[in-house]
Amino acid sequence: MANVAVIGAGHAGVEAAFALAKAGVSVTLFSDEAVAPYFRPRLIAVAFGQTAATAIAIKPATAYEQAGITLKHEAVTQLDVSAKVVNGQAYDGIILAQGARPFLPKFNGVGAGRVKTLWSMEDAAKLQALSKPGATLTIIGGGVLGLEAALRAASAGLQVTVVELAPALLGGVLGNNAEAVLRAALEAKGIALKIGVSVAEIDEAVVQLTDGTSVPAEIVLCSAGARPNATLATNAGLLAEDGVRTNPDLSVAAGVYAAGDLARPTKQRPVCAVMRAMKMGALAANNLLSELAGNPGVAWKDPRLPLFMKVDDVEFHTLGDVRATDVIEERIDDGSDARVWKSVLKRGDSVVGLRWIGTRAGFADWEKQLPPQA
Ligand SMILES: Cc1cc2nc3c(=O)[nH]c(=O)nc-3n(C[C@H](O)[C@H](O)[C@H](O)COP(=O)(O)OP(=O)(O)OC[C@H]3O[C@@H](n4cnc5c(N)ncnc54)[C@H](O)[C@@H]3O)c2cc1C
Repeated sequence: MANVAVIGAGHAGVEAAFALAKAGVSVTLFSDEAVAPYFRPRLIAVAFGQTAATAIAIKPATAYEQAGITLKHEAVTQLDVSAKVVNGQAYDGIILAQGARPFLPKFNGVGAGRVKTLWSMEDAAKLQALSKPGATLTIIGGGVLGLEAALRAASAGLQVTVVELAPALLGGVLGNNAEAVLRAALEAKGIALKIGVSVAEIDEAVVQLTDGTSVPAEIVLCSAGARPNATLATNAGLLAEDGVRTNPDLSVAAGVYAAGDLARPTKQRPVCAVMRAMKMGALAANNLLSELAGNPGVAWKDPRLPLFMKVDDVEFHTLGDVRATDVIEERIDDGSDARVWKSVLKRGDSVVGLRWIGTRAGFADWEKQLPPQA
């Protein structure tokens, strides 16, 4: 029986481990976290006390042993790619799935050291301990993670400010009109928005902004994106610039594959997304199985990923070419509800993108009209 090491027990690693175990491979799944693998996006709900840490496991604790997977809570510190040795043990194959880590810019000020990030269960526990009703929280970064954290914190009774350096939230994917609807929804929840302004310095209880104003901040959460967790791979001699560069079939060497937030099979920078990580984990496992059987693998194709969020009645859903500038935006709802916006983006007669705020009604029908992913 072949034996395979999967390094990293996030969405990609767990998917790969179960696919390999199902095919009869002996799998060792390495995790440097103390808890069972969990659904990472749910960390925000854990951090603000809306769900228990024990409620977000990807699989029941018994599922690993039942599938024949050895889940080892042990950080991998030694990796020899050509000999396929992990922490001193030789394997027939290796899957690298170490994910990403949060990007923390260097901040000025006496409070710079108290800035928190939210990427692991440990981070969520630290935030949870601080997040008491009435506490002031400043979130640096108006992306999906920052906005979901803002809404969940506001609903837990915190006083929340979001600071976004760019002129628009969510990297500008909503366009001006839809973004105005979203901003109103956030403000209606008591969230203060400071957009197009940067952090000058972080003091003991406030964040000073570059426009000369300051915002109250007993807690500061930085949500400024993530970077592939590539140190182990780089130290092992693999090419890693903004992610571990793979061949089209996700292999990086004979019998060694990379998947999830860590992997960069195309020129595009990796996007952190659960669906992408899971699909990559499954493909890496299947291609490794093919290789072990002497067959060629299948090339990775980037899926079209939606950008969406829903917290209570605040939601947005986007898909397709929402960053394109050569498109015409057509609003398709009747404008009777100020909390709702639905628009399609067209290039010529073709629908190439969707922007929905305040509802998802009808989104799936329009999704079918988008051309297949190139
Ligand atoms: C708060 C939050 C909210 C998010 N919300 C969304 C969302 O709404 N939708 C969405 O699609 N995506 C979301 N994401 C992104 C998504 O969670 C990631 O894209 C996804 O988890 C990537 O899966 P992965 O398996 O590649 O990496 P991860 O899930 O990060 O797993 C990698 C694992 O490897 C471990 N590891 C690293 N190095 C080693 C080592 N040397 N030895 C052993 N173990 C190691 C890490 O500790 C980690 O447990 C969110 C992420 C966060 C943090």
